[in-house]
Amino acid sequence: MIYTDSYDVIVVGGGHAGTEAALAPARMGLKTLLLTHNVDTLGQMSCNPAIGGIGKGHLVKEIDAMGGLMAIAADQAGIQFRTLNSSKGPAVRATRAQADRVLYRQAVRIALENQENLDIFQQEVIDIILDQDRVNGVKTKMGLTFHARSVILTAGTFLAGKIHIGMQNYVGGRAGDPASIMLADRLRELNLRVDRLKTGTPPRLDARTIDFSILEKQHGDSVLPVFSFMGSVDQHPRQIPCYITHTNEKAHDLIRANLDRSPMYAGVIEGIGPRYCPSIEDKVMRFAERNSHQIYLEPEGLTSNEIYPNGISTSLPFDVQMGIVNSMKGLEKARIMKPGYAIEYDYFDPRDLKPSLETKAINGLFFAGQINGTTGYEEAAAQGLLAGINAGLFVQQKTAWYPRRDQAYLGVLVDDLCTLGTKEPYRIFTSRAEYRLLLREDNADLRLTPIARELGLIDEARWARFNQKLENIVQEQQRLRQIWIHTQSTHLAEVNSILNTPLTREASGEDLLRRPEVDYKTLTALSVFAPACADAEAAEQVEISIKYQGYIEHQYEEIARHKRHESTSIPDNFDYDKVSGLSNEVRLKLTQHRPVSIGQASRISGVTPAAISILLVNLKKQG
Ligand code: FAD
Repeated sequence: MIYTDSYDVIVVGGGHAGTEAALAPARMGLKTLLLTHNVDTLGQMSCNPAIGGIGKGHLVKEIDAMGGLMAIAADQAGIQFRTLNSSKGPAVRATRAQADRVLYRQAVRIALENQENLDIFQQEVIDIILDQDRVNGVKTKMGLTFHARSVILTAGTFLAGKIHIGMQNYVGGRAGDPASIMLADRLRELNLRVDRLKTGTPPRLDARTIDFSILEKQHGDSVLPVFSFMGSVDQHPRQIPCYITHTNEKAHDLIRANLDRSPMYAGVIEGIGPRYCPSIEDKVMRFAERNSHQIYLEPEGLTSNEIYPNGISTSLPFDVQMGIVNSMKGLEKARIMKPGYAIEYDYFDPRDLKPSLETKAINGLFFAGQINGTTGYEEAAAQGLLAGINAGLFVQQKTAWYPRRDQAYLGVLVDDLCTLGTKEPYRIFTSRAEYRLLLREDNADLRLTPIARELGLIDEARWARFNQKLENIVQEQQRLRQIWIHTQSTHLAEVNSILNTPLTREASGEDLLRRPEVDYKTLTALSVFAPACADAEAAEQVEISIKYQGYIEHQYEEIARHKRHESTSIPDNFDYDKVSGLSNEVRLKLTQHRPVSIGQASRISGVTPAAISILLVNLKKQG
């Protein structure tokens, strides 16, 4: 049965990738359908109830700068906000919020249900409909057919998902949800490389059975950060603390004694797990010299007694989980509400994707999120947004868009995935970016909002706020440039009072701000430079752009050097066999990866600068 005429874009899956993937084309004015197993789990956090962190917070701000939802939902659901690395340079400062998972889901659902051009339908998708090498729609479990010009799959950990607790395992998409078996079987028939990965989660504890009185308390920041460029502190719900406990030798002995009952160590799990989010059994084995690991006890919400013990993800049997939990200070009588588990699932080699996240094999079919080998809500949401935009552009028959590595963490993420692929769950880090000083959280809007406006993703309110901020920045820069302190000035003593060495010649406000000992707040507290700009975000930009001007200019010069060839494109049908002078290994890698540009080709491991020179010459010949 055909349910309706046709959609422009169909999104399969209502997780973090799927929700952003559905919102983007709908905002672009395209008729969009979101199909998901269960409407009540839209925006569900499968694992830790937190958004942001180093690198991840950068992605959240970029999603927001492009009109996405994640930052807005996090502002409405965050119950403990912090700026990480606040004492370090602006490039690595990052926002993180502990989230109330009910409030988060609620914010996502409200946004989706109120989005124009977006329909939501609860059904499992079991098949994708193809017309030769083009996608044409999807089929659902109850036999409904939906047609669309493009389809985005965001099935997360659900494809052939298998849950492990000790030596027991069963089919599932995540705890309490069914796996996608039929769709996984169908996808395995396509010309796409597929493999298995695994991830895990800790047991959840009942707060009423924890002795918090003997544990160290950790509060959020006193000045609360905000995620969205459109958000405000007033949107944050009540803030509550986390607590800290530690594992000890007793727990470690128990883990070592039961390794033969661990599905990972007994060889029952084939998939590789996230290196940077290891299970407790992994930590005990890999860091054998450590006799303790710090565990954060994070509340799952304001109205829930569930506690997330961050740091003891495990797939050990339930009796061992209880032993580990009860061995820790404050948790001697703690009761487990939900067992910890590991899950294995199918993922597709992201090297089979274009940087637009369209599959190379099937026109109009896009993949986003955990299905591409990543881990994390933020990585998934960022890909969802990009796939949503490009599915929209595909329908509009426009050129695909994706950010460069020097433009966004999203550009770094997608380039890493499509060029290098991944053998373990991929997560973003600031260290993955070459141009960190340009890709800051604070300037994500300056980098991306104008592009997003062109793409049709930015509404009038956000555009007005953005332009006001730009104007405030320019005005404040001019003001500081125009105030001069001469050596005869009546303000000299006041100004000298904040300097390490007194002024010996005239200086403008801009010159003074360049001095390491002077920050914007101190400068504008002086009567001659008061009042400070009322727009705190604009003031921050003025300070950073002046203080780091030298470094920023240096990064731009480096980019210009690379860019000369970075964007030289390689045609889809470029024949590497006709290029003489390439080694067989390089030829094979280029043929397998089919990079879309010289920049992408140069980042494939083993592709040497010499091979790039040969390619450049041959591009001209074959062109
Ligand atoms: P998901 O959030 O998994 O959403 C997939 C959606 O697709 C769901 O709504 C599902 O119902 C729907 N769906 C699937 N198949 C179909 C179908 N055939 N038809 C209709 N709908 C379908 N991340 C970390 O950063 N650190 C961690 O330590 C971590 N641990 C994790 C542990 C576990 C046990 C799990 C399950 C996840 C963990 N994650 C962790 C990962 C994090 O949850 C994911 O990265 C993130 O949720 C991926 O988002 P997604 O949108 O790609 O997929």
